[in-house]
Amino acid sequence: MAKRLFPQLNAFLQQTLNLFLPPVCCACQLRLEDSGSSLCPACTSQAQLLSTGICERCGSPLEKDHCTACDQIDFDFELSRNAFSYQEPVISMTQNLKYRGFTHSAIYLAAGMAKVVQNIPEYSACDYICAVPLYPVRRRERGYNQSELIAKHLSKYTGIRYLKGLKRRRYTKSQTKLPRSERLNNLNGAFKAVNRSKIEGKSLILVDDVFTTGSTLNESSKALHAAGVARVYGLTAARA
Ligand SMILES: [Zn+2]
Ligand SMILES: [Zn+2]
Repeated sequence: MAKRLFPQLNAFLQQTLNLFLPPVCCACQLRLEDSGSSLCPACTSQAQLLSTGICERCGSPLEKDHCTACDQIDFDFELSRNAFSYQEPVISMTQNLKYRGFTHSAIYLAAGMAKVVQNIPEYSACDYICAVPLYPVRRRERGYNQSELIAKHLSKYTGIRYLKGLKRRRYTKSQTKLPRSERLNNLNGAFKAVNRSKIEGKSLILVDDVFTTGSTLNESSKALHAAGVARVYGLTAARA
C-alpha cells in the first residue's frame, strides 16, 4: 500500500507546488513573465510543427522517401499524424508532462495538434476525441493520464467532444523501457472499447502523447474497430 501511496503523494505534491510557484516554461523551466502562456518565447521559437516530408499513412518522417514505421506494422488505423517534430523543446515538454507534473505542457501540445485537425478534413469531420488510456494503477500513481489531458484541451480548441472510448484490460510494461522487438507484441489485446453504443459507426480522433513504433495507437485502434468504430484517426503530440 505504502509503495502505491508514495508516488501518488508525489504527484499530488508536485501539482500542488506548481499551483503556488511562479509560472515556469513547461520545457526549459525558465520563469515566465506572461502567465497566460505555458512556453517561454525562446522555446516557442524553436518548436517545429511537423508537416512536410512525412508518410501519408502514419505521419512519420520519411527516410529517402520511405517509411520504416509502415515496414514494421501493417497499421490498423485509417491515418495518423504527429503535430511536432521530436526535438527540443518538445522532448522536454512531453517528458515534463509525463514525469514531473507539468500539466500545462498539455495546453501547448494540444494547440499544435489542433492545427492538424483544422488542416485535414478527415480529422475535422470526426465525431469524438478519445485518448489512449493508462492502466488504473499507473493513472493513480501519476495523478492523471497525460494523453487524456491533451485530448481534453484538444477538444476545447476544436469543439469536437471528448469521450472515453477505451480502457486498459491488463497491466503492460512501459513501452519506453522495452527493446523495439518486444514493443511490437507487448500490447497485444491490452485495450478494450467502452461506451460502445456511442462510438459504434462513428469516426474518432485517437490521441496519444508520443508515437514511437506506433504499436500503442495500433492496438488501441484494433480494439475500437472491433467494437464497431467506423474510422480511427491517430493524432500524437510528437513522433519520437
Ligand atoms: Zn522555455
Ligand atoms: Zn508510415
